[in-house]
Amino acid sequence: MKLERIIPAHKLTIKIKQYKENFSTMTPRWRELRPDMKMECYWCKNNFKDGEQISIAIPEKHKNILLCKDCIKLVKDSENI
Ligand SMILES: [Zn+2]
Repeated sequence: MKLERIIPAHKLTIKIKQYKENFSTMTPRWRELRPDMKMECYWCKNNFKDGEQISIAIPEKHKNILLCKDCIKLVKDSENI
């Protein structure tokens, strides 16, 4: 027995004030220096691999977030809309 329904999707928007593309490269050292930080893209949740370019974005209301190259591309593309 169960009750089941689909929850309507909602749109989540984070406004970005500024960003820096390819701000750093993921390395074992990078992880070591930031033990409390999640080593994943804030938006798509993919884990950063060693050698991967990391971009940083400064949202209006959140702390700085780390983004993978696909997600920083979404930020950049949205500049022209
Ligand atoms: Zn991502």
